[in-house]
Amino acid sequence: MKKINIIGGGLAGCEAALQLANRGWQVNLFEMRPQVMTPAHRTNLLAELVCSNSLKSVLPSTSSGLLKKEAQMLGCILLKIADLVSVPAGYALAVDRELFAQKVTEAISTHQNIRIVNEEYWEITNELTLIATGPLTSEKMTLALSAVLKDSGLYFFDAIAPIVAADSINYDIAFSAGRYDSENTDYLNCPFEKEDYYRFTEALVESEKHEAKEFETEYFKNIGFKFYENCTPIEELARRGKETLRFGVLRPVGFEDRGGQFKRPFAVLQLRAENKDKTSYNLVGCQTMLKYGAQKEVFRLIPGLERAEFLRFGSIHRNTYLDSPRFLKENLSVKGHESLYIAGQLSGVEGYVESIFSGLLTALVIESKLPMLPETTISGQLWRHLITPVANFQPMNANFGLLPDLKENIKDKRKKKLLYYDRAVQDLTSYLTKNGFSDYSL
Ligand SMILES: Cc1cc2nc3c(=O)[nH]c(=O)nc-3n(C[C@H](O)[C@H](O)[C@H](O)COP(=O)(O)OP(=O)(O)OC[C@H]3O[C@@H](n4cnc5c(N)ncnc54)[C@H](O)[C@@H]3O)c2cc1C
Repeated sequence: MKKINIIGGGLAGCEAALQLANRGWQVNLFEMRPQVMTPAHRTNLLAELVCSNSLKSVLPSTSSGLLKKEAQMLGCILLKIADLVSVPAGYALAVDRELFAQKVTEAISTHQNIRIVNEEYWEITNELTLIATGPLTSEKMTLALSAVLKDSGLYFFDAIAPIVAADSINYDIAFSAGRYDSENTDYLNCPFEKEDYYRFTEALVESEKHEAKEFETEYFKNIGFKFYENCTPIEELARRGKETLRFGVLRPVGFEDRGGQFKRPFAVLQLRAENKDKTSYNLVGCQTMLKYGAQKEVFRLIPGLERAEFLRFGSIHRNTYLDSPRFLKENLSVKGHESLYIAGQLSGVEGYVESIFSGLLTALVIESKLPMLPETTISGQLWRHLITPVANFQPMNANFGLLPDLKENIKDKRKKKLLYYDRAVQDLTSYLTKNGFSDYSL
């Protein structure tokens, strides 16, 4: 009988445990609660949802709806349980949090192939092991992982800048060019006039922010957060002085050489392409703790982004995650450690459904050497995200900006999203048939 140790009985660990156990694997599932608690979990149940009880939209016109559909096609078990304990929430899949965790705990504790071990685990051996200890991985495991990586390959918080859809940018204003390199097409630039700049910086300072949780403020203080200049929220920089951004992240230099046609702007915000098809752009340097509603209002004050569609909002959180593209192979095992796999938020996905999907994916890869999923699927792109080197790797949630553009130029946004959905479902169906996976739902 094939054996595996799974560390962490959260969303990813539970999905992976059930998938592998259903395929005849003997699973030891290590969960440290209740002996050792995380700062966010409150119960001793497996698969506890630590905050919202919503697993987001089920609509086909949403990226979250598409990811759920793909995960279901791949035989996801936790989403089936979520359906069973869902509560009315319009077009979202929301669950009775307690019942969800109870049902998952029951499915695992009664499974003949799974043994639950309620202990903190931190030894990394040569046994086949999947680590899914999540954003609040225990300190001992963090140290063990750091030792394996022999490098500063673990991050302890994410400082995420918003991402906007390429087709929502106003190209009459935003121009393509790298700083000091007008041929570079990886960047777009939003030039500010003086009044635009001051309106934007004032709005940054005045808008409503998320308060960090108590355990996060303590943690940030302990790791000397205030010294991490690259991760300082943009609103905090704006608060330091009216000109701070103009001499920092919004400096207008490097765009002068444009055949004498170009008047130097007062300030410039750069947008960096998020993917090779340039369907989405990251607002460089705009990591923020502003509330989502406020982000929409404030960042739309940037010239060229008046109608921006936000695919991901910015955030700064306590979050342990790996610089996965540097350390993970395509099969999600750690380079140089063939028997060690990483899943869940620790691997660099962000969100409940994304973490469940990641557990599912890793189990399927371990079991069946799953070939790479189609690039037109959200699941395929999340997988690629974990293994594709980038300058500043950040956790990723499901969003349509990950997908390659459609062949046709569709103006209607909703129609476009439905076409993304149809294309993904069709391609995933062909993929499953081609690879002989007719029934994933064991
Ligand atoms: C405070 C907070 C709020 C969040 N809110 C949301 C939200 O509202 N919506 C959303 O989509 N996402 C949210 N997330 C992000 C994320 O989706 C969830 O954290 C998700 O649960 C991650 O799944 P996971 O399986 O990777 O980790 P988890 O579900 O956290 O599971 C990890 C498990 O590993 C255990 N563990 C840790 N270290 C060890 C060890 N050494 N040995 C044994 N067990 C160990 C933990 O006790 C835990 O049970 C939030 C994250 C945090 C931290």
